[in-house]
Amino acid sequence: VVRIRGLRKSFGDLEVLHGIDLDVHAGEHVVLFGPSGSGKSTVLRSINLLEEPNSGSVCVDGVEYGPGLPGEKGSGKPAKRGKPIELRRKVGMVFQQFNLFPHLTALENVALPLRSVKGMKADDANRKAAESLRQVGLLQRAAHYPGQLSGGQQQRVAIARALSQDPKVMLFDEPTSALDPELVGEVLRVMHELAEAGMTMVVVTHELGFAREIGDLNVFMDAGVVVETGSSELFDHPTDPRCQDFMRAVR
Ligand code: ATP
Ligand code: MG
Repeated sequence: VVRIRGLRKSFGDLEVLHGIDLDVHAGEHVVLFGPSGSGKSTVLRSINLLEEPNSGSVCVDGVEYGPGLPGEKGSGKPAKRGKPIELRRKVGMVFQQFNLFPHLTALENVALPLRSVKGMKADDANRKAAESLRQVGLLQRAAHYPGQLSGGQQQRVAIARALSQDPKVMLFDEPTSALDPELVGEVLRVMHELAEAGMTMVVVTHELGFAREIGDLNVFMDAGVVVETGSSELFDHPTDPRCQDFMRAVR
């Protein structure tokens, strides 16, 4: 579903991703972890084209993005080059901050992008939004405003909003790190259910217990490179010294 090749990204003179390769297959759950500043968010944001790569390519659901695509140089068949808006329809993203509109109810927060991005009629959008809220266990809170919901519930609304777009892949960037500890569980539970239901997911998280449960592929990043990848074995027996140090530090 996602194929990243040779992804490089700089901010000004500072290169923060030094050539990332990553594959995410349909139904797979990929966990990205590593020290602060290692580039995890930048990778996620590149998949969604919130950041434009300086070189390399990002391919989502068969449509390729990025500068210097093979087809542009003349030889071979032209690459199928997509527009960012098409890509964002295929990719759902959930951030640390919930980014809900405070003056809209839970249902309206989910329904709004269905109308604006997907062009759905109000009735259809509301029906679909209700279905997504049901999926995250919040149908009974549909008429509540964000201020009337706990942080965990607000994050579940944000997940419902992303889900309602029927994305090919869901990206989660530390979705529980802004939450009080007692609210983390309900959000992880919803993510767990999504994973079980076969959703393709890329998750940046410090919750390594959760990572161990859902991660089909775990990717350790440090200083803008993928250092080591593996199954949950990676958490028990990291081979790279940088990953060993990190695991020791977080334990
Ligand atoms: P954290 O665990 O703290 O969220 P991260 O692994 O997600 O870290 P990134 O946010 O991807 O790391 O940042 C990687 C590097 O890129 C950092 O050095 C950061 O300071 C830098 N960076 C990220 N976004 C920008 C930006 N918009 N402008 C300049 N530098 C940036
Ligand atoms: Mg980050």
